[in-house]
Amino acid sequence: MPRYLQNVWIALLMFMGLAWLELGMGVTGSPVITAALAVFMLVLSVVFLLVFERKAFCRYACPVGRTLGFYSRLSPIAVRPQLQSTCDSCKTMECYHGSQLIEPCPSKLVVGRFSENTNCLSCGNCVLSCPSKNVSWQLRTMDNEAKKAGTPGWDAAWFMLLLLGITSFHGVTMIPQWGEWLQQTAAAIGETGQYYFSFVAGMLASSALPVLVYGIAIAAANVGGQGLTSYRKLFGGFAFTALPLAFAYHLAHNMDHLLREGGDVLRLLINPFGIGIKPLTSVERHDLMMQVVAPESVVFTLQAGFMVLGFWLAVQIARYQARRLMPGDGIAIRLKMMLPLLAFFAAITAGNLWLLAQDMEMRF
Ligand code: SF4
Ligand code: SF4
Repeated sequence: MPRYLQNVWIALLMFMGLAWLELGMGVTGSPVITAALAVFMLVLSVVFLLVFERKAFCRYACPVGRTLGFYSRLSPIAVRPQLQSTCDSCKTMECYHGSQLIEPCPSKLVVGRFSENTNCLSCGNCVLSCPSKNVSWQLRTMDNEAKKAGTPGWDAAWFMLLLLGITSFHGVTMIPQWGEWLQQTAAAIGETGQYYFSFVAGMLASSALPVLVYGIAIAAANVGGQGLTSYRKLFGGFAFTALPLAFAYHLAHNMDHLLREGGDVLRLLINPFGIGIKPLTSVERHDLMMQVVAPESVVFTLQAGFMVLGFWLAVQIARYQARRLMPGDGIAIRLKMMLPLLAFFAAITAGNLWLLAQDMEMRF
């Protein structure tokens, strides 16, 4: 793949585009358009497979693959060598080439030579193919990888930050106030009928707001750090802190979905072909989803727990990144640098907690 395409800008554009199609255009309500989109993604991935090497579509273009790839950097379980020295002296590299019985690594990774979980699918091929039995799934802390990571490129930094913005925006579109805000925006720009432009304006503003606040926090951190590290390095290095904040909200939001819609899984398993079942009306569907299997207070307490975890991980990653970015400087300078970031984490966490505390309006 040419170097100018070896970044995640395409994945980021597709991620924003799919979010717009789902939330703004409601395409998931149409089986035909949903199927057409799935076919489009399939064709695109096949074209990438035919033209480029090393699973280029998954690495650089797939919005789902990249979202999972970034989140996997927080995974508490990772495939790693037991002894680094064994991999260092290995000449045969069955994990990469495969063995007689086991397929090669589908992501073309050599165990012992990668430190990022991003492209590892945890398929376990290398665990089986390594003749030295040197590979295993290992436990680690959730901040282990992000706190040690180097400064990412602009593309990865923007992906992590917009992941945070879009994730929260997804929640914004489900609260009762969203319709009102959309109407106010439409009135302000004189839009009537379908609020396409108002939606795009709301989506861009809502997604960009966390990035803007982050950018201001980084500028303040730069001042606190007496300008000893460049703005670009601080912007990239601290962007990893957006990952746990986004992941925490993602988990908290989807836990609510799971508790409301999880019953459907059981009904599906009991009657997979829906024999004798009539389609529900929107009202019936809404009523069904309002029946949460646990009391609202318990659900919110669990959600708040996720948010606290996200905040704590962000602080840990920021601490280590501050030390990496300004290794020779004293605690006082690093503290001054971190204060604006702590304010940013607190603002995002408070905003997301507020979102979680609102009623959710389900989309059908
Ligand atoms: S995992 Fe096994 S096969 Fe792969 S480099 Fe290490 S020792 Fe060699
Ligand atoms: S678990 Fe699978 S994807 Fe990950 S390094 Fe091993 S073979 Fe490759």
